[in-house]
Amino acid sequence: MDANQSRRLVILGTGGTIAGRATQAGDNVGYVAGQVSVEDLVAAVPTLAHQALTVEQVAQVDSKDMGLPVWQALVRQLWVHLNDPEVQAVVVTHGTDTLEETAFVLQQVLRPSKPVVLTCAMRPASALAPDGPQNLSDAVAVALQASGGGVVVVCAGKVHSARDVAKVHTYQLDAFDSGDAGPLGCVEEGQLRAFKPWEMVRDAVTEGSVERFLSAPTLPRVELVTSHADADGSVVRALMGQGVQVRPLRGIVVAGTGNGTVHKAMLHALEEAQTTRGVRVVLASRCARGRVVPHAGLSFDHSQGLSPVKTRLALALELLLAD
Ligand code: ASP
Repeated sequence: MDANQSRRLVILGTGGTIAGRATQAGDNVGYVAGQVSVEDLVAAVPTLAHQALTVEQVAQVDSKDMGLPVWQALVRQLWVHLNDPEVQAVVVTHGTDTLEETAFVLQQVLRPSKPVVLTCAMRPASALAPDGPQNLSDAVAVALQASGGGVVVVCAGKVHSARDVAKVHTYQLDAFDSGDAGPLGCVEEGQLRAFKPWEMVRDAVTEGSVERFLSAPTLPRVELVTSHADADGSVVRALMGQGVQVRPLRGIVVAGTGNGTVHKAMLHALEEAQTTRGVRVVLASRCARGRVVPHAGLSFDHSQGLSPVKTRLALALELLLAD
């Protein structure tokens, strides 16, 4: 095996704004996501010209529409490539809207010991000054230089962990944040500067659990509701009232106020759902920072510091593997 082969990278494309195209170059919002092939995105980055690459289009979607079928296609390809000793790391291009959810699913399902680097763009490929090429170049730099494994997100020169990353801005190029944890590192002129150790895999996943994920027709149904002033619990009662024509409700995640507090009217409905219908209820917080700090008065399980959308995924995956 020559040196180039041992440093082979795989780049998987899934669509998003990074692959978006607008009819006018100055238009950064009125574009269609998922138009440009991942081969063309790679070709637009001259720094990748001499890198040994395998490039595959796994999907071509606006990530607002992300879901289990694309996650399964991604996991299937990642499982193959990560188990190939000649592959050093994998980069995935993705839309920004649900990037944090895909990153979390991939980390939970695969817990890779090699780097899996997700990247994106806030401006379409057709923009006057697209950010995608720089982000892709940075993602490849991170994939090649990371000393640990795991799923990370690279955007606007920052490296975020799958667990902590969240999209926090609708428009600016530096759209992601890692909350209290802060980023794992940054990329400066193609050099990775790590601020803290990469997550190391202690308990690698089994082929059986990956198979279980890949063969699932759907994820167990877990809905996300938000507590707010003037809440009356009717959204929870509506969920409970749905008949057998929809998938059975297995869980509810509540984006609570503050430290996971819930309006008393909604609380009654949730208690009923859990005690009389066996629906798992988990408390998260709608606050952008902090976690639900556990205390004796909590009526339900709490989110272990995960955001509401990641709590929903964590519960759905837990239920899937327990079935
Ligand atoms: N809607 C786009 C997507 O998530 C937004 C983006 O990529 O920035 O695919």
